[in-house]
Amino acid sequence: MRSPFIVDITPHKRASGVQRPLVAELEPSEGMCLDTAEIVTSALHVDFLLEIAGEHLVAAGRIDAHWHGPCRRCLEPVTGVSSFKVQEIFEQVPVEGETYLLDKDEVDLEPMLREAVLLNVPVVPLCSDDCLGPDPDRFPASVEVDDPDDSDSSGSDAQPVPRAGDPRWAALDALQFGD
Ligand SMILES: [Zn+2]
Repeated sequence: MRSPFIVDITPHKRASGVQRPLVAELEPSEGMCLDTAEIVTSALHVDFLLEIAGEHLVAAGRIDAHWHGPCRRCLEPVTGVSSFKVQEIFEQVPVEGETYLLDKDEVDLEPMLREAVLLNVPVVPLCSDDCLGPDPDRFPASVEVDDPDDSDSSGSDAQPVPRAGDPRWAALDALQFGD
């Protein structure tokens, strides 16, 4: 079966130098799993502008990644949507780590989307910032000494600070909790 991530670029080649929209709802057949955890990205909404510029294809726009996985404290299922922007270049001889492969008449967006999802979807999500875990009396969440604000959270109904989608937080989470 043809991958839903492969895009015919012949219309874009006919309009070289012009930004043409690509809006699509993409669903990886097996979900898109992060290497680190049980987080699965099940649907991606992409809203891109594609432009042929010389020998390159430039893809710029927004991705909304719908994901699900267990809360890192209580293991209850959590769902979320991470939205982030990308701007990437595709070319026939890609530079590893910098640009992506461009075929003659089509482009496979999957490697780029996979990398963008890895960087932007939370590695270890929380069902809420106040989550106390499965049995807070026996296993208080206070072991997380890096987060002193948690100690006075009882009775607080403050809105959790949205952290999903910020790759800096994801990196921190991986460092502190990824064992
Ligand atoms: Zn939880």
